[in-house]
Amino acid sequence: MESIESRLLALHARYAPLSTGETASYIPELMRANPDHFALSLTTVDGLTTSVGDDSIAFSLQSISKPFVYGLALNEIGREKLLSSVGVEPSGEAFNSIVELEKTTHRPYNPMINSGAIAITGLLAQISTTPLIDRILSLLGDCAGRSIENPLRIDQAVFQSEKATAHRNRSIAHLLRHFNVIGDAIESSLDCYFQQCSILANTRDLSMMAATLANGGVNPLTKEVVLAPQHVRDILSVMFTCGMYDSAGEWAFHVGLPAKSGVSGGLITVVPGVMGIATYSPRIDSKGHSLRGVRAITDLASDLQLSVFTSTSLQGRELATP
Ligand code: GLN
Repeated sequence: MESIESRLLALHARYAPLSTGETASYIPELMRANPDHFALSLTTVDGLTTSVGDDSIAFSLQSISKPFVYGLALNEIGREKLLSSVGVEPSGEAFNSIVELEKTTHRPYNPMINSGAIAITGLLAQISTTPLIDRILSLLGDCAGRSIENPLRIDQAVFQSEKATAHRNRSIAHLLRHFNVIGDAIESSLDCYFQQCSILANTRDLSMMAATLANGGVNPLTKEVVLAPQHVRDILSVMFTCGMYDSAGEWAFHVGLPAKSGVSGGLITVVPGVMGIATYSPRIDSKGHSLRGVRAITDLASDLQLSVFTSTSLQGRELATP
């Protein structure tokens, strides 16, 4: 049986030459990323990480922060109350769409697009007695298995770059205020949202974060219970239906796994009960997904029959321990 490391090396070799796509430009600082960087990391629910390529390069999480902050909100606001403010329906629109509030309820469609994520950060900020960003950093750090001496940090240049150019997200936040989804603290909520998007991590961290989701909220290495299992189920459901925005249907069909991408070029994929996978390559397509990452995960899911709809006797059968 082929080892996981040789599979990852083969995927790296297959897609490293792919040079279509550009680094994101609407956040100017993201344009500075090296388009050649490419990393693939995988962590099993036993806590074993296998990794190839530029896996020590830290990049800003961007939208990959969204499922984890949604988990924080499920815990602190509660499922039903949160559902009354943010839905769980795919929007079929781009991540930054402005026409993305439901017609009658005026809720954002789901927590994986900007309107839903900005609403969630705003709602959490309203009830937070300590700086919200510190709690977000701590939660994500616990998912990544980072120690207190080695916490996750924010890329201040990316944060300032997004804050200075966020006219579209600012207009979404004002629309949310208009419909009373969030309160008056618009700028401070947006600041927190931009900061959560600017948290730096590498693919090794991210594969551990994805593995924590695969493992029902328990970090596979530290064994810490970071998220409650019922909240992980809800997070994975919305990642499955909404995590890839307006290509979520294609992704479900070809890959069949919950995933979340970010415009900096990161992508996490969760194989529930088995492993978390993270890829990084900053060349993105028109929908904001990493081109190399999407191709590599599509191949891996197909080779190992990882789709959650694969008959259980076949799913992951080819998976050799790393
Ligand atoms: N910070 C980015 C934004 O709000 C995140 C978008 C993304 O990664 N898709 O536009």
